[in-house]
Amino acid sequence: MFPSVVPPCAGCGVCCHLLVELLPGDDHVPEEYVVEHSGVRCMDQHGDGACVALDPETRLCTIYDQRPQTCRTFSRGSELCRRVLKLPAEVVESS
Ligand code: SF4
Repeated sequence: MFPSVVPPCAGCGVCCHLLVELLPGDDHVPEEYVVEHSGVRCMDQHGDGACVALDPETRLCTIYDQRPQTCRTFSRGSELCRRVLKLPAEVVESS
């Protein structure tokens, strides 16, 4: 079920179903959560695409302080955020 407005990040977790490639400098990410696809280091995912670091009940990141740079720079309400939420661009954000 997708929301009708941009929800708060805490408890959403929809973007945590995208493939996250690690970047140079992401050495702090716990190795047990990392896999390699064709030589590219990525966050491992469950069968539904959920990042293995995403808590399935709280939908919060369990490695928040060690999360990759891509996760740190992802912006709530950005074009990609709205796209993965299947929201049109004009939809307002919730408070
Ligand atoms: S590392 Fe954390 S913020 Fe990044 S995709 Fe995984 S659960 Fe989401």
